[in-house]
Amino acid sequence: MNTQTPQSWEARADAHSFYGFTDLPTVADRGTIVLTHGKGPYVYDVHGREYLDGNSGLWNMVAGFDHKGLTEAAKAQYDKFPGYHAFFGRMSDQTVMLSEKLIEVSPFNRGKVFYTNSGSEANDTMVKMLWFLWASEGQPQRRKILTRENGYHGVTVVSASMTGKPYNSVFGLPLDGFIHLSCPHYWRFGKEGESEAQFTKRMAKELEDTIKKEGPETIAGFFAEPVMGAGGVIPPSKGYFQAIQPILKRYNIPLIADEVITGFGRTGETWGCETYDFVPDAIISSKNLTAGFFPMGAVLLGPDLTDRLQKAAEEIEEFPHGFTASGHPVGCAIALKAIDVVLNEGLLDNVRKLTPLFEEGMARLAEKKNIGEWRGKGLMGALEAVKDKDTKTPFDGSLSVSERIANACTDHGLICRPLGQAVVLCPAFIMTPAHMDEMFSKLDSALDKVF
Ligand code: PLP
Repeated sequence: MNTQTPQSWEARADAHSFYGFTDLPTVADRGTIVLTHGKGPYVYDVHGREYLDGNSGLWNMVAGFDHKGLTEAAKAQYDKFPGYHAFFGRMSDQTVMLSEKLIEVSPFNRGKVFYTNSGSEANDTMVKMLWFLWASEGQPQRRKILTRENGYHGVTVVSASMTGKPYNSVFGLPLDGFIHLSCPHYWRFGKEGESEAQFTKRMAKELEDTIKKEGPETIAGFFAEPVMGAGGVIPPSKGYFQAIQPILKRYNIPLIADEVITGFGRTGETWGCETYDFVPDAIISSKNLTAGFFPMGAVLLGPDLTDRLQKAAEEIEEFPHGFTASGHPVGCAIALKAIDVVLNEGLLDNVRKLTPLFEEGMARLAEKKNIGEWRGKGLMGALEAVKDKDTKTPFDGSLSVSERIANACTDHGLICRPLGQAVVLCPAFIMTPAHMDEMFSKLDSALDKVF
């Protein structure tokens, strides 16, 4: 047992918390920010310092940090029925209502929902569903999973294997059979003289070549975020999904849209796949699903996968998978309220209203000499720092430039996320134009401090 009690909150955090996804030199230098509460899009630390959260938590606190409707929905359900029965022929009334609602607001005319506690688990669940399905249909060799470099799908062993980030090599991942195609980021990966249309064609050709090389009869499914989030906010090149979907269909490979970030309004429509005009075979949802007020994920199955999975499960009399807290009634009550708040109480409208201001703010900052590109969709965006704007040469150095920008933002009372060489903003949907002004003016000052 530890006999020494460190004094400050920062030291206490360091003493007993093993940090994940945290730049340790930054924390060693600046200390951990220990938060106590939030109000609207602001959070406050133990010293009473105020931060405007340009990231809405981890892309998810879209209704702000103190939304009364959401806390009341949670309280009411805790009072009524906090326990749960998720399996063995029992289910809460809230879960029934949420599944109805999710299919109603999905792009599917019918379908079914399976609940998890996180986005990672929802991706894992979907992979198991695909393996289960193909095995049941007499194709057990269909196990390979296609994703993209820079795609982010989570941290469990399977979802980390799907993730196309080099850091996963420290865990000896990806597992065999997880194949990463090229990232469809035209600005960074387009070749000299190649048009965006040609680039998209090249991405589609790579997909088809890979399917042929691996053997279509070995591939279980293809997963893609409509806009890559943790890869650095990367919208697909123009026409990308229209180019790849017919290829996937030709080889009978399900297309799964990982909408953990893009779902429920982030891109200006309910779903990112609506924004990019395609209907996937299934949707992975989390984060905004509960506006960050409860850990919950969901797999939304479209009609084809619903029927096939139902048949596969009936053949062996069950689908042997599920988490203790799957479909927790408090989470479902919160999700029902969150969906209502986003879709019917003006939040999605506000995303659409704020988007031009957001785009203007980003475009203005992108004029700075060390910003190579701004990119984004709806209320998610990134500014890519470059040492040289013409050659797009990235910065080097041990502390990444984006980390330095994010630290300068912190000093100015703004939270933003460093990702690779980019800083990312994904504000809450409840922001006002005044919040937007404050966010961009703080980021502007931070950029001036770093460059
Ligand atoms: N998929 C995407 C697109 C994500 O952005 C994330 C998390 O950021 C995940 C999956 C994993 O979700 P979770 O962190 O809830 O496990």
